Amino acid sequence: MFQSLAGRSVIVTGASKGIGRGIAKRFAEAGCRVIVVARSHDAARLVAEDIAVMGGAAIPVTADISTEAGAAAMAAAAVEHFGGIDILCANAGIFPAARIGDMSVAEFDEVMGVNLRGTFLSVRACLAELTKTGRGRIVVTSSITGPITGFPGWSHYGASKAGQLGFMRTAAIELAPAGITINAILPGNIATEGLVALGPDYMASMASSVPMKRLGTVEDIANAALFFASEEAGYITGQTLVVDGGQVLPESLAALD
Ligand code: NAP
Repeated sequence: MFQSLAGRSVIVTGASKGIGRGIAKRFAEAGCRVIVVARSHDAARLVAEDIAVMGGAAIPVTADISTEAGAAAMAAAAVEHFGGIDILCANAGIFPAARIGDMSVAEFDEVMGVNLRGTFLSVRACLAELTKTGRGRIVVTSSITGPITGFPGWSHYGASKAGQLGFMRTAAIELAPAGITINAILPGNIATEGLVALGPDYMASMASSVPMKRLGTVEDIANAALFFASEEAGYITGQTLVVDGGQVLPESLAALD
């Protein structure tokens, strides 16, 4: 059996919807106290209220994690309300599509700023508090897109998601002496608002390309995050876990016939 994580202080970035909301609720179910981070205060507040209705503890924090001030504000909120930080789920991300020939420098920089710089800033802002615990946990939401696969329109996104893994591997070495682990989840296509916004055709074609013939759920990713955050995963660091229903496996479409 896994040891209880009840009472642990958890920051989840990008927790107002999608995968982050699923992670926040899963940790709350496990008895953790959750800092719900997003730029939209109203959406973050609704998630915190949902968690309170479930009997959990959550504080909404409005912060842009692509900025130093935003990352510092979320870490400060965790200290103020929960007395420290045990677990950071660096999940916030954006995935606007643009083909390379049409992509502006501003579009490239925005994706890098949120997905990659935001991961660095979130980790750095939480480092002192994670170190105090002697068993801090960092879980990064990367993607199969970039580290393993590609998709037209997402060269900047894929680069940012692969970049997160490069960051993580050196971070794992730097943080190990403090007892902090850092690992990454690589989701396949997960049914979230962000993905639904790409349209029903995209959703249907993606489901048909997955050996399990369904898109993933936010709970599928949240369970993996909970595992990486567990006491029992304390000797795992710098690693990746693909959660994709087998999506990256087929050599060609014929493999799915
Ligand atoms: P989503 O539904 O669009 O939610 C994104 C979350 O991030 C929202 O809470 C959003 O809230 C927040 N956010 C965005 N920019 C932010 C910023 N600068 N500062 C703070 N919060 C910010 O996306 P999702 O599908 O759940 O994706 C979550 C993560 O999973 C991302 O890292 C994504 O790359 C990764 N992922 C998703 C899939 C998938 O199939 N959905 C697959 C692979 C990987 P605000 O807009 O209010 O800030």
